[in-house]
Amino acid sequence: MNGKKIYIIIFIISIIGLAIVQYQYLRIGLNLAKVQFNQKMGLTVNEIKEGLQQPNELTFLVGKAITKDDSYFKLSIDSVQDASSYFMNDFLKEKLLQQGIKTEFTYTLYAKDSTDYLKSPKFYDNENDLLRYPITLDGYLPLLVKKRLILELQFKNLNRYFLSQLNGLTIPSLLFIVAIIFVIIWVLKSFYWQRNLITTTNEFINNLTHELKTPVFSIGIASKILQEKIANENKELVNMIRSQVDKLKNQIEKVLELASLEGKKNFIEKKVIDFKPVVLNIIKEFEQIAALESIKFVRDVRGDTYILNCDSYHLENAINSLLENAKKYSKENIKKIKLLVFKDGNKLFISVEDNGVGISDNYKKKIFDKFFRVSSGDIHNVKGYGLGLSYVKRIIKLHKGKITVKSSLDLGSEFIISLPLFNNEK
Ligand code: ADP
Repeated sequence: MNGKKIYIIIFIISIIGLAIVQYQYLRIGLNLAKVQFNQKMGLTVNEIKEGLQQPNELTFLVGKAITKDDSYFKLSIDSVQDASSYFMNDFLKEKLLQQGIKTEFTYTLYAKDSTDYLKSPKFYDNENDLLRYPITLDGYLPLLVKKRLILELQFKNLNRYFLSQLNGLTIPSLLFIVAIIFVIIWVLKSFYWQRNLITTTNEFINNLTHELKTPVFSIGIASKILQEKIANENKELVNMIRSQVDKLKNQIEKVLELASLEGKKNFIEKKVIDFKPVVLNIIKEFEQIAALESIKFVRDVRGDTYILNCDSYHLENAINSLLENAKKYSKENIKKIKLLVFKDGNKLFISVEDNGVGISDNYKKKIFDKFFRVSSGDIHNVKGYGLGLSYVKRIIKLHKGKITVKSSLDLGSEFIISLPLFNNEK
């Protein structure tokens, strides 16, 4: 499984985990709200009991209603009952509110022998899922009817009420989870979008360079034929065309190769070899170039063997890139390039030093970034894509090595590669 998938799985597990933890918190919160509700109800029950114990305006009215005594009021008994039902409702509501309970309720006043005496003005249809709080009344009213009187409070949908009390916590935590999901999805989307963009760019470069190859190849053949047929005095011109076409061909090959490496994670094929002959070959080839371009090429190759577990093709390319840069970024006066190779401890060091334009401190890190080129002073006229050093760095990293640069503006630069020798690699 690749890293990307693992991260996505970790993300999904974390979000699910977070949701479960939040749910558990919610349940704990609900339970606490229930406990708190019960405590408040305990206090309210006492208050109600006390309020209904003695004869007062309310108990007197209720007493008349439950004994169906209409002698005192000049009203029908139904009206007395209605009035007492409303007054009892208001009394209970006030007692609940005093304890901070603001939810709907109904009540019934009944005797143990299941005679219903009084009911709240409003009624719940479905009586099954009601939470009931029966209060056995003392004092005036039971004495009046000479029975055990019970006032039962009924609550419905208390979970919704508890949730509404927890809203300050549940809604923000849900919103935060949703926000996290949105942000992560956005990051993932832009990450994939970027990758797609890189792939499309590479495909474009691939196609373009392939398209360029055919005309360059044709110009190459045509100029070769022309070179054979043309009179001697014009040969110089055709030679120029041919050398420029060769340069163009090399550039195209380079871009193609770099584009084809792009996106591939492991294009390196390592083998345990003695890298010294490769170094000597690099030197032999560069000596010829140096001679042609009047560069003073100094080399110092120490040690008998350089046993490396490496991909010699890419490592050779990397060293050649450094030598080519040393040549490219030289100054017009005496050009001097030094290649130093030596072993120290369990490492092989390869240093390429020049006396060229140098690199200012600001750019020493950036030059290894893809497409980065120092574009100031007289470096403008040197052609390039800003890909060489990023390639070198990648190759060295794939060999578990390091590349560093020492440089002073106008004095020159030294690029130092260190690679682990095979015997001590582990
Ligand atoms: P390119 O040479 O195609 O621009 P590179 O990745 O090889 O790309 O180099 C990146 C930049 O680093 C160059 O544009 C140049 O400014 C700077 N650079 C690389 N090598 C040297 C050097 N030996 N001396 C001075 N500057 C260098």
